[in-house]
Amino acid sequence: MLSPHFLENGAVKNSSSTQSVEQDTDGYHKMNIAIIGAGLIGRLLALAFLRAKHHITLFDKDTKLAHNSAAYAAAGLLTPLGESLHCQPNIVKMGFESLHLWPKLLASLDEHTIFQQTGAIMVSHEQDKGDYQRFVRHLHNNYAEHAVQNLNRQELTALEPELGRSFNQGLYLPQEGQIGNRRLLIALRKQLEQEGGNNKLNWLSECLVTAIKHGEHSTQVSYTLTRNSTQQSHHAPFDLVIDCRGTGATLKNAKQACAPLADLRSVRGELFQLFAPAVNISRPIRLMHPRYQLYIAPKGKGFYVVGATEIESDDDSPMTVRSAMELLSAAYSIHPGFAEANIRQHISQCRPAFSDNQPKISVLTTDNQSRLIQVNGLFRHGFLISPVVVQQVLALVAAIEQPTSDTSDLTNTELPYSELLPVDFIAVKNNQMKEVI
Ligand SMILES: Cc1cc2nc3c(=O)[nH]c(=O)nc-3n(C[C@H](O)[C@H](O)[C@H](O)COP(=O)(O)OP(=O)(O)OC[C@H]3O[C@@H](n4cnc5c(N)ncnc54)[C@H](O)[C@@H]3O)c2cc1C
Repeated sequence: MLSPHFLENGAVKNSSSTQSVEQDTDGYHKMNIAIIGAGLIGRLLALAFLRAKHHITLFDKDTKLAHNSAAYAAAGLLTPLGESLHCQPNIVKMGFESLHLWPKLLASLDEHTIFQQTGAIMVSHEQDKGDYQRFVRHLHNNYAEHAVQNLNRQELTALEPELGRSFNQGLYLPQEGQIGNRRLLIALRKQLEQEGGNNKLNWLSECLVTAIKHGEHSTQVSYTLTRNSTQQSHHAPFDLVIDCRGTGATLKNAKQACAPLADLRSVRGELFQLFAPAVNISRPIRLMHPRYQLYIAPKGKGFYVVGATEIESDDDSPMTVRSAMELLSAAYSIHPGFAEANIRQHISQCRPAFSDNQPKISVLTTDNQSRLIQVNGLFRHGFLISPVVVQQVLALVAAIEQPTSDTSDLTNTELPYSELLPVDFIAVKNNQMKEVI
Protein backbone atom coordinates (compact mmCIF):
# COMPACT_ATOMS: atom_id res chain seq x y z
CA MET A 1 0.00 0.00 0.00
CA LEU A 2 1.16 3.52 -0.69
CA SER A 3 1.47 5.41 2.52
CA PRO A 4 0.09 8.95 2.69
CA HIS A 5 1.82 11.58 4.83
CA PHE A 6 -0.43 14.47 5.67
CA LEU A 7 1.02 17.94 5.77
CA GLU A 8 -0.12 20.61 8.20
CA ASN A 9 -1.77 22.70 5.48
CA GLY A 10 -4.11 19.82 4.67
CA ALA A 11 -2.18 18.72 1.60
CA VAL A 12 -1.10 15.14 1.17
CA LYS A 13 2.41 14.05 0.38
CA ASN A 14 2.81 10.41 -0.51
CA SER A 15 5.95 8.43 -0.31
CA SER A 16 7.33 6.74 -3.39
CA SER A 17 5.42 3.87 -4.94
CA THR A 18 8.42 1.59 -4.53
CA GLN A 19 8.23 1.58 -0.75
CA SER A 20 7.53 -1.65 1.08
CA VAL A 21 4.01 -2.60 2.07
CA GLU A 22 2.98 -1.02 5.34
CA GLN A 23 1.05 -3.01 7.95
CA ASP A 24 -1.02 -0.73 10.18
CA THR A 25 -1.59 -1.93 13.71
CA ASP A 26 -5.27 -0.96 13.73
CA GLY A 27 -6.21 -3.08 10.76
CA TYR A 28 -6.07 -0.22 8.27
CA HIS A 29 -3.71 -2.04 5.94
CA LYS A 30 -5.63 -2.04 2.71
CA MET A 31 -5.49 0.39 -0.20
CA ASN A 32 -4.68 4.07 -0.28
CA ILE A 33 -7.66 5.41 -2.25
CA ALA A 34 -8.26 8.91 -3.60
CA ILE A 35 -11.89 9.94 -4.13
CA ILE A 36 -12.34 13.03 -6.27
CA GLY A 37 -15.61 14.87 -5.58
CA ALA A 38 -17.31 15.04 -2.18
CA GLY A 39 -20.84 15.49 -3.52
CA LEU A 40 -23.40 12.72 -3.21
CA ILE A 41 -21.60 9.69 -4.59
CA GLY A 42 -18.14 10.76 -3.35
CA ARG A 43 -19.33 11.07 0.26
CA LEU A 44 -21.21 7.77 0.19
CA LEU A 45 -18.22 5.95 -1.30
CA ALA A 46 -15.76 7.58 1.11
CA LEU A 47 -17.78 6.29 4.06
CA ALA A 48 -18.20 2.83 2.55
CA PHE A 49 -14.45 2.51 1.88
CA LEU A 50 -13.50 3.86 5.29
CA ARG A 51 -15.69 1.15 6.78
CA ALA A 52 -13.94 -1.37 4.53
CA LYS A 53 -10.70 -0.21 6.22
CA HIS A 54 -9.06 1.64 3.37
CA HIS A 55 -7.14 4.90 3.76
CA ILE A 56 -9.12 7.64 2.01
CA THR A 57 -8.15 11.02 0.64
CA LEU A 58 -11.26 12.93 -0.38
CA PHE A 59 -10.78 15.90 -2.73
CA ASP A 60 -13.33 18.60 -3.47
CA LYS A 61 -12.93 22.04 -4.96
CA ASP A 62 -15.86 23.22 -2.81
CA THR A 63 -16.04 23.65 0.98
CA LYS A 64 -17.42 20.79 3.05
CA LEU A 65 -20.87 22.42 2.79
CA ALA A 66 -20.99 21.30 -0.87
CA HIS A 67 -23.22 24.23 -1.83
CA ASN A 68 -22.08 24.00 -5.45
CA SER A 69 -22.88 20.32 -5.90
CA ALA A 70 -25.91 18.89 -7.69
CA ALA A 71 -26.58 16.98 -4.46
CA TYR A 72 -27.16 20.23 -2.55
CA ALA A 73 -29.46 21.62 -5.25
CA ALA A 74 -31.61 18.49 -5.54
CA ALA A 75 -35.13 17.86 -4.28
CA GLY A 76 -34.38 14.40 -2.87
CA LEU A 77 -37.32 12.62 -4.51
CA LEU A 78 -37.14 8.81 -4.48
CA THR A 79 -39.92 8.22 -6.99
CA PRO A 80 -39.06 5.40 -9.41
CA LEU A 81 -42.54 5.13 -10.94
CA GLY A 82 -42.87 8.90 -11.21
CA GLU A 83 -39.65 8.91 -13.25
CA SER A 84 -40.47 5.80 -15.27
CA LEU A 85 -42.06 7.51 -18.29
CA HIS A 86 -38.77 9.26 -19.03
CA CYS A 87 -36.14 6.69 -18.06
CA GLN A 88 -35.16 3.11 -18.82
CA PRO A 89 -36.56 0.22 -16.71
CA ASN A 90 -33.13 -0.47 -15.12
CA ILE A 91 -33.28 2.95 -13.41
CA VAL A 92 -36.73 2.12 -12.02
CA LYS A 93 -35.46 -1.24 -10.73
CA MET A 94 -32.39 0.37 -9.14
CA GLY A 95 -34.73 2.94 -7.59
CA PHE A 96 -36.87 0.28 -5.93
CA GLU A 97 -33.79 -1.64 -4.80
CA SER A 98 -32.33 1.55 -3.33
CA LEU A 99 -35.56 2.26 -1.46
CA HIS A 100 -34.80 -0.99 0.44
CA LEU A 101 -31.15 -0.06 0.98
CA TRP A 102 -31.56 3.55 2.20
CA PRO A 103 -33.03 2.80 5.68
CA LYS A 104 -30.10 0.55 6.64
CA LEU A 105 -27.59 3.08 5.33
CA LEU A 106 -29.26 5.96 7.18
CA ALA A 107 -29.51 3.91 10.38
CA SER A 108 -25.71 3.66 10.35
CA LEU A 109 -25.37 7.47 10.57
CA ASP A 110 -25.45 9.24 13.93
CA GLU A 111 -27.15 12.34 12.54
CA HIS A 112 -30.85 12.05 11.66
CA THR A 113 -31.81 12.40 7.99
CA ILE A 114 -35.43 12.69 6.88
CA PHE A 115 -36.49 9.59 4.95
CA GLN A 116 -40.13 9.01 4.12
CA GLN A 117 -41.86 6.32 2.11
CA THR A 118 -45.52 7.27 2.33
CA GLY A 119 -46.07 7.42 -1.41
CA ALA A 120 -46.47 10.20 -3.95
CA ILE A 121 -49.50 11.53 -5.82
CA MET A 122 -49.69 12.39 -9.52
CA VAL A 123 -52.27 15.03 -10.50
CA SER A 124 -53.15 16.76 -13.74
CA HIS A 125 -55.04 19.80 -14.92
CA GLU A 126 -57.81 19.35 -17.47
CA GLN A 127 -55.64 20.45 -20.44
CA ASP A 128 -53.00 17.77 -19.65
CA LYS A 129 -55.47 14.89 -19.14
CA GLY A 130 -54.21 13.14 -22.30
CA ASP A 131 -50.67 12.91 -20.88
CA TYR A 132 -52.08 11.79 -17.55
CA GLN A 133 -54.02 8.93 -19.19
CA ARG A 134 -50.91 7.97 -21.13
CA PHE A 135 -48.97 7.76 -17.85
CA VAL A 136 -51.68 5.58 -16.27
CA ARG A 137 -51.55 3.22 -19.29
CA HIS A 138 -47.75 3.18 -19.20
CA LEU A 139 -47.76 2.04 -15.56
CA HIS A 140 -50.43 -0.54 -16.24
CA ASN A 141 -48.55 -1.96 -19.25
CA ASN A 142 -45.02 -1.90 -17.82
CA TYR A 143 -45.16 -1.88 -14.04
CA ALA A 144 -48.33 -3.80 -13.22
CA GLU A 145 -46.54 -5.57 -10.34
CA HIS A 146 -46.33 -2.29 -8.43
CA ALA A 147 -49.32 -1.05 -6.49
CA VAL A 148 -50.99 2.00 -8.03
CA GLN A 149 -54.32 3.43 -6.95
CA ASN A 150 -56.73 5.67 -8.90
CA LEU A 151 -58.22 8.20 -6.50
CA ASN A 152 -61.49 10.06 -6.93
CA ARG A 153 -61.88 13.48 -5.28
CA GLN A 154 -63.13 11.96 -2.02
CA GLU A 155 -60.22 9.51 -1.80
CA LEU A 156 -57.76 12.22 -2.76
CA THR A 157 -59.13 14.46 -0.03
CA ALA A 158 -58.84 11.65 2.48
CA LEU A 159 -55.14 11.22 1.64
CA GLU A 160 -54.17 14.89 1.15
CA PRO A 161 -57.06 17.01 2.49
CA GLU A 162 -55.92 20.26 0.85
CA LEU A 163 -55.50 18.78 -2.66
CA GLY A 164 -59.14 17.83 -3.16
CA ARG A 165 -60.03 21.52 -3.62
CA SER A 166 -58.06 21.76 -6.87
CA PHE A 167 -58.32 18.29 -8.41
CA ASN A 168 -61.10 15.78 -9.14
CA GLN A 169 -58.77 12.81 -9.27
CA GLY A 170 -55.22 11.68 -8.71
CA LEU A 171 -52.99 8.65 -8.97
CA TYR A 172 -51.51 7.33 -5.73
CA LEU A 173 -48.12 5.59 -5.97
CA PRO A 174 -47.76 4.18 -2.43
CA GLN A 175 -44.15 2.91 -2.68
CA GLU A 176 -42.57 6.26 -3.62
CA GLY A 177 -40.50 8.21 -1.12
CA GLN A 178 -38.19 11.13 -0.47
CA ILE A 179 -35.02 11.92 1.43
CA GLY A 180 -33.67 15.08 3.07
CA ASN A 181 -30.81 15.65 0.62
CA ARG A 182 -29.18 18.56 2.46
CA ARG A 183 -29.51 16.86 5.82
CA LEU A 184 -27.91 13.79 4.29
CA LEU A 185 -24.89 15.78 3.10
CA ILE A 186 -24.44 17.16 6.63
CA ALA A 187 -24.93 13.75 8.24
CA LEU A 188 -22.36 12.20 5.90
CA ARG A 189 -19.87 15.00 6.63
CA LYS A 190 -20.18 14.46 10.37
CA GLN A 191 -19.94 10.70 10.03
CA LEU A 192 -16.87 10.94 7.82
CA GLU A 193 -15.18 13.30 10.28
CA GLN A 194 -15.98 11.00 13.16
CA GLU A 195 -15.08 7.66 11.57
CA GLY A 196 -12.17 9.12 9.64
CA GLY A 197 -10.20 10.25 12.68
CA ASN A 198 -6.57 9.25 13.26
CA ASN A 199 -5.61 10.01 9.68
CA LYS A 200 -7.87 7.32 8.21
CA LEU A 201 -9.52 10.05 6.15
CA ASN A 202 -7.83 13.14 4.79
CA TRP A 203 -10.57 15.43 3.48
CA LEU A 204 -9.02 18.05 1.24
CA SER A 205 -11.80 20.55 0.70
CA GLU A 206 -11.23 23.61 -1.50
CA CYS A 207 -8.79 21.51 -3.54
CA LEU A 208 -9.26 21.52 -7.29
CA VAL A 209 -7.99 18.35 -8.95
CA THR A 210 -6.18 19.38 -12.12
CA ALA A 211 -4.63 16.16 -13.44
CA ILE A 212 -4.94 12.38 -13.13
CA LYS A 213 -2.05 10.37 -14.59
CA HIS A 214 -0.71 6.85 -14.48
CA GLY A 215 2.48 6.09 -12.58
CA GLU A 216 4.46 2.97 -11.69
CA HIS A 217 1.91 0.84 -9.78
CA SER A 218 0.01 3.96 -8.83
CA THR A 219 -2.32 6.66 -10.17
CA GLN A 220 -1.15 10.22 -9.65
CA VAL A 221 -3.43 13.08 -8.67
CA SER A 222 -2.39 16.72 -9.08
CA TYR A 223 -4.31 19.46 -7.33
CA THR A 224 -4.21 23.06 -6.21
CA LEU A 225 -5.66 24.58 -3.06
CA THR A 226 -8.36 26.99 -4.25
CA ARG A 227 -8.28 29.12 -1.10
CA ASN A 228 -4.58 29.92 -1.72
CA SER A 229 -3.77 32.58 -4.28
CA THR A 230 -0.40 30.93 -5.05
CA GLN A 231 -1.97 28.19 -7.27
CA GLN A 232 0.90 25.93 -6.23
CA SER A 233 0.45 22.41 -7.56
CA HIS A 234 0.65 19.34 -5.31
CA HIS A 235 0.96 15.75 -6.52
CA ALA A 236 0.24 12.44 -4.80
CA PRO A 237 0.22 8.78 -5.89
CA PHE A 238 -2.59 6.40 -4.93
CA ASP A 239 -3.27 2.68 -5.25
CA LEU A 240 -6.66 3.55 -6.71
CA VAL A 241 -8.39 6.76 -7.78
CA ILE A 242 -12.20 6.98 -7.85
CA ASP A 243 -13.47 9.94 -9.83
CA CYS A 244 -16.90 11.22 -8.74
CA ARG A 245 -16.70 14.77 -10.07
CA GLY A 246 -20.18 14.93 -11.60
CA THR A 247 -20.27 17.77 -14.14
CA GLY A 248 -16.65 18.60 -13.17
CA ALA A 249 -15.62 15.75 -15.53
CA THR A 250 -17.19 17.12 -18.74
CA LEU A 251 -14.87 18.05 -21.62
CA LYS A 252 -15.61 21.69 -20.94
CA ASN A 253 -14.77 21.54 -17.22
CA ALA A 254 -11.88 19.05 -17.14
CA LYS A 255 -8.66 19.65 -19.03
CA GLN A 256 -7.26 16.83 -21.19
CA ALA A 257 -4.82 15.81 -18.44
CA CYS A 258 -7.69 15.41 -15.99
CA ALA A 259 -9.55 12.40 -17.43
CA PRO A 260 -12.47 14.21 -19.10
CA LEU A 261 -15.48 12.09 -20.05
CA ALA A 262 -16.14 12.99 -23.68
CA ASP A 263 -19.78 11.84 -23.68
CA LEU A 264 -20.73 13.58 -20.43
CA ARG A 265 -22.92 16.70 -20.56
CA SER A 266 -24.60 19.08 -18.14
CA VAL A 267 -28.38 19.39 -17.91
CA ARG A 268 -29.58 22.53 -16.19
CA GLY A 269 -32.21 22.27 -13.46
CA GLU A 270 -33.88 25.08 -11.54
CA LEU A 271 -36.01 24.94 -8.43
CA PHE A 272 -37.45 27.07 -5.65
CA GLN A 273 -37.43 26.60 -1.93
CA LEU A 274 -40.62 28.16 -0.54
CA PHE A 275 -41.80 28.78 3.00
CA ALA A 276 -45.56 28.27 2.95
CA PRO A 277 -46.90 27.69 6.46
CA ALA A 278 -50.49 28.00 5.16
CA VAL A 279 -50.03 24.93 2.94
CA ASN A 280 -50.37 21.44 4.35
CA ILE A 281 -49.13 18.79 1.96
CA SER A 282 -47.44 15.75 3.46
CA ARG A 283 -46.05 13.79 0.51
CA PRO A 284 -44.47 14.56 -2.90
CA ILE A 285 -46.99 15.75 -5.52
CA ARG A 286 -46.20 15.46 -9.21
CA LEU A 287 -48.03 17.55 -11.76
CA MET A 288 -48.39 16.55 -15.40
CA HIS A 289 -46.79 19.29 -17.45
CA PRO A 290 -46.02 19.47 -21.18
CA ARG A 291 -42.43 20.72 -20.70
CA TYR A 292 -41.08 19.51 -17.36
CA GLN A 293 -41.59 16.88 -14.72
CA LEU A 294 -42.94 19.27 -12.10
CA TYR A 295 -43.21 18.41 -8.44
CA ILE A 296 -43.73 19.80 -4.98
CA ALA A 297 -41.66 18.12 -2.27
CA PRO A 298 -42.61 18.91 1.34
CA LYS A 299 -39.51 19.44 3.47
CA GLY A 300 -41.22 19.86 6.87
CA LYS A 301 -41.95 22.88 9.08
CA GLY A 302 -43.72 24.73 6.25
CA PHE A 303 -40.91 24.39 3.68
CA TYR A 304 -41.50 23.10 0.16
CA VAL A 305 -39.27 22.53 -2.83
CA VAL A 306 -40.90 23.31 -6.18
CA GLY A 307 -38.99 21.97 -9.17
CA ALA A 308 -37.56 21.33 -11.50
CA THR A 309 -36.79 22.51 -14.98
CA GLU A 310 -34.74 20.31 -17.31
CA ILE A 311 -32.87 22.31 -19.92
CA GLU A 312 -30.15 21.09 -22.29
CA SER A 313 -27.58 23.63 -21.19
CA ASP A 314 -24.47 23.86 -19.02
CA ASP A 315 -25.47 27.36 -17.92
CA ASP A 316 -25.60 27.61 -14.14
CA SER A 317 -26.47 31.29 -13.96
CA PRO A 318 -29.48 32.33 -11.82
CA MET A 319 -33.01 31.20 -12.64
CA THR A 320 -34.71 32.77 -15.66
CA VAL A 321 -37.99 34.68 -15.43
CA ARG A 322 -39.64 32.12 -17.70
CA SER A 323 -38.68 29.21 -15.43
CA ALA A 324 -39.69 31.19 -12.34
CA MET A 325 -43.12 31.92 -13.80
CA GLU A 326 -43.68 28.31 -14.87
CA LEU A 327 -42.60 26.81 -11.54
CA LEU A 328 -44.49 29.28 -9.37
CA SER A 329 -47.68 29.18 -11.42
CA ALA A 330 -47.55 25.37 -11.27
CA ALA A 331 -47.22 25.53 -7.47
CA TYR A 332 -50.08 28.02 -7.23
CA SER A 333 -52.26 25.85 -9.48
CA ILE A 334 -51.73 22.90 -7.16
CA HIS A 335 -52.49 24.87 -4.00
CA PRO A 336 -53.60 28.54 -3.88
CA GLY A 337 -51.89 28.83 -0.48
CA PHE A 338 -48.56 29.11 -2.32
CA ALA A 339 -49.60 32.65 -3.33
CA GLU A 340 -48.61 33.81 0.17
CA ALA A 341 -45.42 31.74 0.34
CA ASN A 342 -42.03 33.39 0.87
CA ILE A 343 -39.38 32.59 -1.71
CA ARG A 344 -36.46 31.45 0.45
CA GLN A 345 -34.13 30.31 -2.30
CA HIS A 346 -34.01 29.91 -6.04
CA ILE A 347 -31.43 27.45 -7.27
CA SER A 348 -29.88 26.68 -10.63
CA GLN A 349 -27.50 23.75 -10.93
CA CYS A 350 -26.48 21.20 -13.54
CA ARG A 351 -27.00 17.47 -13.48
CA PRO A 352 -24.27 15.20 -14.93
CA ALA A 353 -25.65 13.05 -17.78
CA PHE A 354 -24.29 10.82 -20.56
CA SER A 355 -25.97 10.88 -23.97
CA ASP A 356 -28.18 7.90 -23.05
CA ASN A 357 -28.97 9.38 -19.60
CA GLN A 358 -27.63 6.20 -17.99
CA PRO A 359 -25.22 6.13 -15.04
CA LYS A 360 -21.81 4.63 -15.84
CA ILE A 361 -19.02 2.97 -13.92
CA SER A 362 -15.82 2.52 -15.87
CA VAL A 363 -12.48 1.08 -14.81
CA LEU A 364 -9.28 2.05 -16.61
CA THR A 365 -6.33 -0.18 -15.86
CA THR A 366 -2.79 -0.11 -17.23
CA ASP A 367 -0.37 -3.01 -17.50
CA ASN A 368 1.41 -1.82 -14.40
CA GLN A 369 -1.80 -1.72 -12.34
CA SER A 370 -2.42 2.00 -12.35
CA ARG A 371 -6.16 2.24 -11.76
CA LEU A 372 -8.89 4.78 -12.20
CA ILE A 373 -12.61 4.16 -11.61
CA GLN A 374 -15.02 6.78 -12.93
CA VAL A 375 -18.56 6.92 -11.52
CA ASN A 376 -20.73 9.47 -13.23
CA GLY A 377 -23.89 10.30 -15.20
CA LEU A 378 -26.31 10.00 -12.28
CA PHE A 379 -28.42 12.63 -14.07
CA ARG A 380 -31.71 13.28 -12.26
CA HIS A 381 -31.50 9.98 -10.35
CA GLY A 382 -28.55 10.37 -7.97
CA PHE A 383 -30.52 9.93 -4.73
CA LEU A 384 -32.87 7.47 -6.36
CA ILE A 385 -30.13 4.97 -7.26
CA SER A 386 -26.96 5.79 -5.30
CA PRO A 387 -27.22 2.95 -2.72
CA VAL A 388 -27.09 0.47 -5.62
CA VAL A 389 -24.21 2.35 -7.27
CA VAL A 390 -22.25 2.24 -4.00
CA GLN A 391 -22.79 -1.54 -3.61
CA GLN A 392 -21.61 -2.08 -7.17
CA VAL A 393 -18.43 -0.03 -6.71
CA LEU A 394 -17.71 -1.73 -3.36
CA ALA A 395 -17.91 -5.17 -5.00
CA LEU A 396 -15.74 -3.98 -7.87
CA VAL A 397 -13.01 -2.71 -5.56
CA ALA A 398 -13.17 -5.89 -3.50
CA ALA A 399 -12.38 -7.76 -6.75
CA ILE A 400 -9.55 -5.36 -7.59
CA GLU A 401 -8.10 -5.91 -4.12
CA GLN A 402 -7.52 -9.59 -4.82
CA PRO A 403 -3.75 -10.04 -5.15
CA THR A 404 -4.11 -12.05 -8.36
CA SER A 405 -6.51 -9.74 -10.15
CA ASP A 406 -5.58 -8.42 -13.56
CA THR A 407 -7.83 -6.76 -16.12
CA SER A 408 -8.87 -9.99 -17.85
CA ASP A 409 -9.91 -11.42 -14.47
CA LEU A 410 -11.90 -8.33 -13.70
CA THR A 411 -14.03 -8.54 -16.84
CA ASN A 412 -15.33 -11.88 -15.57
CA THR A 413 -15.97 -10.58 -12.08
CA GLU A 414 -19.44 -11.31 -10.77
CA LEU A 415 -20.90 -8.08 -9.47
CA PRO A 416 -24.23 -7.84 -7.63
CA TYR A 417 -25.94 -5.50 -10.10
CA SER A 418 -24.30 -6.38 -13.41
CA GLU A 419 -27.62 -6.58 -15.26
CA LEU A 420 -28.86 -3.22 -14.03
CA LEU A 421 -25.57 -1.34 -13.95
CA PRO A 422 -22.86 -2.94 -16.09
CA VAL A 423 -19.25 -1.91 -15.54
CA ASP A 424 -16.99 -0.95 -18.46
CA PHE A 425 -13.51 -2.44 -18.16
CA ILE A 426 -10.98 -0.58 -20.25
CA ALA A 427 -7.44 -1.93 -20.47
CA VAL A 428 -4.92 0.59 -21.74
CA LYS A 429 -1.22 0.36 -22.52
CA ASN A 430 0.88 2.21 -19.97
CA ASN A 431 2.07 4.75 -22.47
CA GLN A 432 -1.48 5.36 -23.72
CA MET A 433 -3.09 5.92 -20.37
CA LYS A 434 -2.54 9.62 -20.40
CA GLU A 435 -4.28 10.03 -23.75
CA VAL A 436 -7.16 7.71 -22.98
CA ILE A 437 -8.02 9.29 -19.67
C1 LIG B 1 -32.25 20.84 -9.64
C2 LIG B 1 -31.91 19.40 -9.38
C3 LIG B 1 -32.87 18.56 -8.79
C4 LIG B 1 -32.56 17.22 -8.55
N1 LIG B 1 -33.49 16.43 -7.93
C5 LIG B 1 -33.22 15.12 -7.70
C6 LIG B 1 -34.18 14.29 -7.04
O1 LIG B 1 -35.25 14.75 -6.64
N2 LIG B 1 -33.87 12.97 -6.87
C7 LIG B 1 -32.69 12.43 -7.30
O2 LIG B 1 -32.48 11.22 -7.14
N3 LIG B 1 -31.75 13.21 -7.90
C8 LIG B 1 -31.99 14.52 -8.11
N4 LIG B 1 -31.06 15.32 -8.71
C9 LIG B 1 -29.84 14.68 -9.24
C10 LIG B 1 -28.76 14.50 -8.18
O3 LIG B 1 -28.58 15.68 -7.46
C11 LIG B 1 -27.46 14.10 -8.91
O4 LIG B 1 -27.70 12.95 -9.67
C12 LIG B 1 -26.34 13.79 -7.92
O5 LIG B 1 -26.11 14.85 -7.05
C13 LIG B 1 -25.05 13.47 -8.68
O6 LIG B 1 -24.10 13.12 -7.71
P1 LIG B 1 -22.55 13.28 -7.98
O7 LIG B 1 -21.87 12.92 -6.70
O8 LIG B 1 -22.18 12.55 -9.23
O9 LIG B 1 -22.35 14.85 -8.31
P2 LIG B 1 -22.39 16.08 -7.31
O10 LIG B 1 -23.37 15.85 -6.22
O11 LIG B 1 -22.57 17.31 -8.15
O12 LIG B 1 -20.91 16.11 -6.68
C14 LIG B 1 -19.76 16.36 -7.49
C15 LIG B 1 -18.69 17.00 -6.61
O13 LIG B 1 -17.46 17.02 -7.34
C16 LIG B 1 -16.77 18.23 -7.05
N5 LIG B 1 -15.81 18.49 -8.13
C17 LIG B 1 -16.08 18.70 -9.44
N6 LIG B 1 -14.93 18.88 -10.14
C18 LIG B 1 -13.92 18.79 -9.25
C19 LIG B 1 -12.49 18.89 -9.36
N7 LIG B 1 -11.87 19.07 -10.55
N8 LIG B 1 -11.74 18.78 -8.24
C20 LIG B 1 -12.35 18.58 -7.04
N9 LIG B 1 -13.69 18.47 -6.88
C21 LIG B 1 -14.46 18.56 -7.98
C22 LIG B 1 -17.89 19.25 -6.95
O14 LIG B 1 -17.48 20.40 -6.20
C23 LIG B 1 -19.00 18.45 -6.25
O15 LIG B 1 -18.97 18.62 -4.84
C24 LIG B 1 -31.30 16.68 -8.93
C25 LIG B 1 -30.33 17.53 -9.49
C26 LIG B 1 -30.63 18.88 -9.70
C27 LIG B 1 -29.57 19.78 -10.28
